[in-house]
Amino acid sequence: MLDSSGRNIDYMRISITDRCNLRCRYCMPQEGIEKVSMSQILTFEEILRICGAAVSLGIRKFKVTGGEPLVRKGCTGLCAELKGIPGVEQVTMTTNGQLLAREIGALRQAGIDGINISLDSLREDRYRKITGGGSLEETLRGLDAAIQSGIPTKINCLLQQDFNEDELPDFARLAFERGIDVRFIEIMPIGFGRPETGISNETVLQRLEQLYPNLVRDERVHGNGPAVYYRLDGDAAMETKAVESVAAGSIGLISAMHASFCGSCNRIRLTSQGEVKPCLCYEDSISMKPALEDGSEDALRRALAEAIERKPAGHTFEDRGSVDRRAMMQIGG
Ligand code: SAM
Ligand code: SF4
Repeated sequence: MLDSSGRNIDYMRISITDRCNLRCRYCMPQEGIEKVSMSQILTFEEILRICGAAVSLGIRKFKVTGGEPLVRKGCTGLCAELKGIPGVEQVTMTTNGQLLAREIGALRQAGIDGINISLDSLREDRYRKITGGGSLEETLRGLDAAIQSGIPTKINCLLQQDFNEDELPDFARLAFERGIDVRFIEIMPIGFGRPETGISNETVLQRLEQLYPNLVRDERVHGNGPAVYYRLDGDAAMETKAVESVAAGSIGLISAMHASFCGSCNRIRLTSQGEVKPCLCYEDSISMKPALEDGSEDALRRALAEAIERKPAGHTFEDRGSVDRRAMMQIGG
């Protein structure tokens, strides 16, 4: 369905829980957030009904996220059921990877089309610090399992000044050597995220160009999102000092703060409590609960269509006062 700015909305991110087994410092307070009772959280049956209605409006791609989606029991079964809705083209997941090695077989069986793993540091001590106690080893096990399973896998990384910015070359090498996409995401003023502590993707690109003089734009389609991709140009990769093997993966830059990608935004978000957010930036949301109670698919379609129509032309992250005060795990990152 087209929104009022003429954009085709064909993608919905579904937060299936606001709980998480990590406490990433830009996302969650160390003590966690007040637990929402399960009675307020959408059941899988309700999520599937909403998604069925969304498909009839032209939404064909779903991303399962959270909180940490894999902490909710039955998550892989939900993915399989989403894949089974006629008309669904793609179901992907965003995870911190802590439980991924254990769940990868079930995700593969579910037919999942892609996995994004959030990984901000390749050093155990830093990883533990940034995630509030997570195990790098577990996430790397999850990454290996995902790569071995053949499911297209990407890494999402937030670089922060004086913390992990020096790992940029390590992440670039990871992309090029293991043939997976690594995307650098600019920190947004959502939750506990403070953009001034982040690194702009302009700086990331400059540093990458210094490391890899043969870096070129990668025009291939990599996914549904706003990332701009770069790859190494052909065999010349072998000649640059920084690269030890043939280039295969690409580097994506998701410049939430420093580039305007709103003109091609294709998504809405469903929170775990049943609200549809037209835009990540603002508090505005439409509750699906009255439509769920109504019981008809038409009511669900109307509520979703209203959310799509209410999509603003763009975000205003630079004006902090207008930004949704909820954290990313409540919104569905
Ligand atoms: N727990 C899963 C994970 O970490 O991948 C899924 C949910 S998490 C909220 C989704 C993504 O949002 C993660 O990649 C995380 O780094 C990102 N995120 C959280 N807070 C953010 C912020 N303030 N700015 C930019 N990205 C943020
Ligand atoms: Fe949890 Fe993901 Fe937020 Fe980290 S970014 S605290 S893993 S929801």
